Amino acid sequence: MSRRVAIALGLAACAVLHAAEPAPRWFKGNLHTHSLWSDGDDYPEMIADRYKQAGYHFLAISDHNVLAEGTRWLELKAPAVVAGTVVQPGGGAVLEDYLARFGPDWVEQRETAGQWEVRLKPLAEYRTLLEEPGRFLLIPSAELTSKWSRPATATEPARGGPVHLNHTNPAALIAPVVAGSALEIMQRSVDAVLEQRARTGQPMMIHLNHPNYVWGVTAEELMHVHGEKFFEIYNGHPGVHNGGDHAHLDTDEMWDAILTRRLAELQLGVMFGIGSDDSHHYHRMLLGQSNPFRGWIMVRATHLTPESIIRAMEAGDFYASSGVTLAEVTRTGRTLALEIQAEPGATYTTQFIGTRRGYDPASQLIESGPGSKALPHRRYSKDVGAVLAETKGPRASYTLKGDEIYVRAKITSSKAKPNASVAGEVECAWTQPLVNEAK
Ligand SMILES: [Zn+2]
Ligand SMILES: [Zn+2]
Repeated sequence: MSRRVAIALGLAACAVLHAAEPAPRWFKGNLHTHSLWSDGDDYPEMIADRYKQAGYHFLAISDHNVLAEGTRWLELKAPAVVAGTVVQPGGGAVLEDYLARFGPDWVEQRETAGQWEVRLKPLAEYRTLLEEPGRFLLIPSAELTSKWSRPATATEPARGGPVHLNHTNPAALIAPVVAGSALEIMQRSVDAVLEQRARTGQPMMIHLNHPNYVWGVTAEELMHVHGEKFFEIYNGHPGVHNGGDHAHLDTDEMWDAILTRRLAELQLGVMFGIGSDDSHHYHRMLLGQSNPFRGWIMVRATHLTPESIIRAMEAGDFYASSGVTLAEVTRTGRTLALEIQAEPGATYTTQFIGTRRGYDPASQLIESGPGSKALPHRRYSKDVGAVLAETKGPRASYTLKGDEIYVRAKITSSKAKPNASVAGEVECAWTQPLVNEAK
């Protein structure tokens, strides 16, 4: 073969390879889900099947301090009545539905010394039932579930609270950290994940879950974590206080405090917002239950693989939703633009939220009252997370004027959220922030 022909063939091969690279597309997913491997109330393949049928492209079942690996038998306990409802985790109608869906050859049961047991299938086994290339992906995960506490001192009462972090696509389970502060738990957990990632070469990520669950994590602690890129702006569990209260910031306010201080003062980089379900209850869809399909992320990636999803998320190429779908989002150069996939009868308001240079950095501690074991929150000045512009309708865009540190968009629909996690919720979406790189 002549050199010229070889070069021509080489060029042709490049062209073919290039043409085969798919264009990025939107994949819908949920990174926070529970099953009978911990405190969820259904079998993991039943849960994954529900998400797949609901049109999701990827799901991470993230049970508390456990990976779905190895052999585990679930003991079926006698039915008990809890709050007026008969409860038997994994038994009764739940087991009947599992048998009906996947058949008696798949469902493994046994009786040992009078105790009835059902085998919880590991991910490596059940993923073969449901995964399809380009259509549905299951990603390993675990919710690193920790608590911090410290005793009373002469000047401070006893303090404590939960810290939960999701480790997505781990190579091995990381032990929960026991420490005297949320910050120490977060930092040591993030460090352990970064170390595992560097050692194994496997793409993986860690995100802080529901910061306002039992008010376990303050914005000031989260903003100080080195290497953390993600937290939950929206979590569909009914007990996690996305909306804050009289003494605590909501998660939008926390995000603005975190972005402002990380970017302008701490030089610790941007933090992105995730929407998730944190679903535990799959059998009664109603207010007060921890149900699926309330919060999710839409990731624009080239391939439906953990690697491609994580790479896109680390580039901020995704948005969080509790009901609003965006046809397009672009964060290019100095402009953040979006187009809403409008639903009939709904109207949409897009707020562009950001902080300008020269903001008033003052903040005040908010008194949370006696008896609270949580650390008090801080209220920042109106400059932090100000509404820089507001647009009605299906299209919105914002071009940096020059003095913004960042700008992000929150889209609020007039439509009440079906099966809301708290009463009165409307559907929203949150884009990732556009950071002003100009000095
Ligand atoms: Zn949690
Ligand atoms: Zn959870």
